[in-house]
Amino acid sequence: MKKWLCLALAAALLWTCPAMAEESGRGFDNWYEIFVRSYQDSDGDGLGDLNGVLQRLDYIEGLNMTGIWLMPIMPSPSYHKYNVTDYMAVDREYGTVDDFKALAEACHSRGIKVIIDLPVNHTSTEHPWFRAAAEALAAGDDGEEHVGYYHFSQEGGDGMVPLAGTSWFYEERFAGGGMPDLNLDNPAVREAIREILRFWLAECGADGFRLDAVTSFYTGSADENIAFLRWLKEECEAIKPGSFLVGEAWTGMEQIAQYYESGVDAFFLFPASQAEGSIISSIRSKKPAQAYIKAVDKARSAIDGLLAPFLGNHDTGRAVGSLQARSDPAKAKFAEGLLALFGGSSFVYYGEEIGMVGSGDDPNKRLAMYWNDGDMTQQPPGTTNIEYAYPCADEQLADPASLLNYVSAAEGMRLAFPAVAAGKNEWVASDTHTLLMRRFTEEESALVAVNFSAKEALSLEVPGAGYEIAFDLETGEGRAVLEGHSLTLPPYGIAVLMKE
Ligand code: CA
Repeated sequence: MKKWLCLALAAALLWTCPAMAEESGRGFDNWYEIFVRSYQDSDGDGLGDLNGVLQRLDYIEGLNMTGIWLMPIMPSPSYHKYNVTDYMAVDREYGTVDDFKALAEACHSRGIKVIIDLPVNHTSTEHPWFRAAAEALAAGDDGEEHVGYYHFSQEGGDGMVPLAGTSWFYEERFAGGGMPDLNLDNPAVREAIREILRFWLAECGADGFRLDAVTSFYTGSADENIAFLRWLKEECEAIKPGSFLVGEAWTGMEQIAQYYESGVDAFFLFPASQAEGSIISSIRSKKPAQAYIKAVDKARSAIDGLLAPFLGNHDTGRAVGSLQARSDPAKAKFAEGLLALFGGSSFVYYGEEIGMVGSGDDPNKRLAMYWNDGDMTQQPPGTTNIEYAYPCADEQLADPASLLNYVSAAEGMRLAFPAVAAGKNEWVASDTHTLLMRRFTEEESALVAVNFSAKEALSLEVPGAGYEIAFDLETGEGRAVLEGHSLTLPPYGIAVLMKE
């Protein structure tokens, strides 16, 4: 039996193909973003931790994820840990460095990569560097070495925060957060960062980093940000060739495209995300197929590199809310299908696969993973709204028609057909609600058909002879049927066709 035929038959159920997961150099990944605190508690203190992630690797592998992005795991006084006090340690709440090493090793044995969040635009005001600098300035010593790690000034102004007990100010672009900006031009800071990169990549087994707030490194200067990112990428390559860097440049398409000049592997495709982003708004459009074509064309023509599309993350409203799909699982599924087809490396935020919702205050977007009613972490401090719109993960695992199993199938489609996930794209035909595209690499060519209609089964003409349905990604409204040259897709149906 052909590889893809066996996969098609298994597509309706949670499945994995370990042989494929072990392949390296596929050129793209299926990433899963985890807020460790809210994911899985392993020791009964009510807070998620690294060993909890380790316990859930079967689940993550079952989702067909090939990479995990851990939000910050380093010691920090905040619950979200984006202001770090020690870059070469693991926060006690989450475990130990040895726990991280064990997690990385377990992931690698399953063909899963692990990257960690690296917030080096700023530290915590409680970082020993900042405390040493603040103490020195309070004592009248502005020549102390750590004073040069930050941007201190005796002038106030935009982005400058008074340093208590002194006449000094420090630069902080994330106002009010206890997050002073580092002076990234200081050679001692660069050396410290080099040591941090080496620690995680070479000693701890990390496969790369998610780079926080890259447009704020040198606020207002894209050129300087890009130069710094190039330095980061080169340092990582020297330490561990092939390590993966993905940057957070929360800005428009043209600016994001420019950041690829740094050599950093990818930047999150913010224009495709959230309620107003191109994926969800294409579903809402009166001419959805044309809107999706435009969205994909715009990203693929602007960006010369690996795309990193996503629907939502820890800073945005969750996808089911953005989609207004609290009681419309078919629409939630279809958005995941369009994400999987967009191209490049897809990013799914933990809980998105079970339709978790959350918006407004940040903690609401970072709620406890809903495994079941008994097995959940504490909610993050500051949570103002707790809502779970869809059934828990355990229930969805057991339901072949669940959103969870759809996400698994959509991500599995990407692994089974690398050309579909990240190949070149050619539009073959389209109508208001139907779309036929060809995805191809040197090794593989496939047709992908999409029905954007929420209610109607629609047919489209398949050019050429000898095609078979290789993968049927359906929301539970029926199956794809190919009769001669006529392919009929159920509402929101997606099918991959290959020649015999
Ligand atoms: Ca714990």
